[in-house]
Amino acid sequence: MKMSKLFVQTLREFPSDAEVVSHKMLARAGYIKKLAPGLYSFMPLMWRVLKKIETIVREEMDRAGAQELLTPFVQPKELWEESGRWEAYGKELMRVIDRHDKEMCLAPTAEEVITAIARDGLKSYKNLPCNIYQIQDKFRDEVRPRYGLLRGREFIMKDAYSFDTDEAGLEKEYQNMAQAYKRIFERCGLETKMVQSDSGAIGGSVSHEFMVITDTDAGENDVFYCEDCDYSANSNHAVSKLPPAQTDGGYSKAEVVDTPNTTSIEELCEFLKIPATVILKTLVYIADKKPVLALIRADKTVEETKLMNAVGAMDIRIATAPEIEELMIQKGFNAAKGFIGPKGMDDVTIVADETVKDLKNFVVGINEADKHLVGANLGVDVNIDKFVDIRLVEAGEICPQCGKKLKVTQGIEVGNIFKLGTKYSKPMNAVFTDIDGKSKPYVMGCYGIGITRTAAAAIERHHDDFGIKWPMAIAPYHVIVVPVNVKDELQTSTAQKIYDELLAKGVEVVLDDRDERAGVKFKDADLIGFPYRINVGKTIKDGNVELKNRTTGETEILTPEKAVEKILEVVRA
Ligand code: ATP
Ligand code: MG
Repeated sequence: MKMSKLFVQTLREFPSDAEVVSHKMLARAGYIKKLAPGLYSFMPLMWRVLKKIETIVREEMDRAGAQELLTPFVQPKELWEESGRWEAYGKELMRVIDRHDKEMCLAPTAEEVITAIARDGLKSYKNLPCNIYQIQDKFRDEVRPRYGLLRGREFIMKDAYSFDTDEAGLEKEYQNMAQAYKRIFERCGLETKMVQSDSGAIGGSVSHEFMVITDTDAGENDVFYCEDCDYSANSNHAVSKLPPAQTDGGYSKAEVVDTPNTTSIEELCEFLKIPATVILKTLVYIADKKPVLALIRADKTVEETKLMNAVGAMDIRIATAPEIEELMIQKGFNAAKGFIGPKGMDDVTIVADETVKDLKNFVVGINEADKHLVGANLGVDVNIDKFVDIRLVEAGEICPQCGKKLKVTQGIEVGNIFKLGTKYSKPMNAVFTDIDGKSKPYVMGCYGIGITRTAAAAIERHHDDFGIKWPMAIAPYHVIVVPVNVKDELQTSTAQKIYDELLAKGVEVVLDDRDERAGVKFKDADLIGFPYRINVGKTIKDGNVELKNRTTGETEILTPEKAVEKILEVVRA
């Protein structure tokens, strides 16, 4: 490919709506073109990268025994009603109506479609196990499409679905997929951490995410991990043990005391001269439109996904001041934020964190303005039947596996694996006849990889101030040959020769034949991120060219023949 012909439109500046490195660079280097929020055209350079990632994914999925197919991008409502997700999925599901007034949706995922395919075709245990996958555009009407390809509305996903006769079969396939994923990301030049995770809207019991660890702003997930053992988990799933703390308030009896204007935990601590660890904090949430009280030791924070799962809701958020007021009026109280408590809230769902169990002679709100109860005890002043872990883990707390201190880092989820069990097969009546002649629902797993997100995550990991540093395996081209001065006959003819030779040997090469200043060409090459650059400049008079490695920045002076040889070595490695 000649640079003069390559359809690439580099920009002088980063686009104003780009917040993270990968978005900035992909837009500026001409890889993507925005059509509307969360919708991008993949320009020729981008498409080459995506096809390379897809090829790696295909090869490894096929090697792991999965089979590729492709299902329609538009799906009928009826199937989604069978699984119960037409109601449950929420606004991310883009619903459309066809000319016959039939309700349809744009595929955000394909559990329903693939389960229906299996139900028709995999009728006997003899057809099992089976793992089928596709690489397909997905559409999710994300609330906040952002970060370019990291969170788009239309994006490319590899989604696989496995069907087994029993749990043991699923476990085996789950491990098989975990191994395949490790190989896929390694081949893409991406180090990943496999972390425990919440199963979210897809449901099921066990799931893991593959995280690219990043120190850029793009890491949307907090990952807690232990350096001494293999424990690691997304914050929505992480658990920890707490270091010792004072949990006895030391009050000799329970009594109501005045605590004027103590609307925050800090103010209350200050006023009563007590640590937050002896206060029971009550927070009001709205889960699927209904109020829920979350109780937790006051120095700790509620993890909303854990709370949402604890109450079995699809949606959760903290209540607003008017919503709290409305709840108080309903229950005949007059308190506002800071003074809320579980008292008199018998018909409201109350979830207490496990930290609450250890509290003795503690301080708690009683739904009266400017008052708290001190010296309260469980079973006497506060009755709770159920304790669930709804606590957000913090760095420095103790690893649940080995007892060392947990650390935190940010990660980008590039893929995940879920044990679905019979979550879809049961409601959809997707059954097979087992060896004993009985009809049983498939035991399923599902396995996703964000193809477009993986490309963007690679940039978050591999870049510098000048541009992208693609790992060789997913770079759009391997090398660019740059005649420094196109008016110099020897330089252009040598560059052409090197280019022809590399091309003949199957190397993916670009010749920068443009009549531009050397600085401009070098800048573009660094921005686009060619892993290697061969500069043909003045040194050609002595028979030498310059070979530059984009990743390491190393430069070698060598003959054109040697340069070609080196490139062939790395391309074939
Ligand atoms: P997230 O928590 O980031 O929204 P998810 O749990 O919704 O992800 P899945 O439904 O399991 O993700 O999708 C599988 C993979 O598809 C994810 O691991 C991710 O790599 C990718 N993916 C999901 N949503 C998007 C999106 N909006 N844009 C780009 N890639 C996405
Ligand atoms: Mg999502």
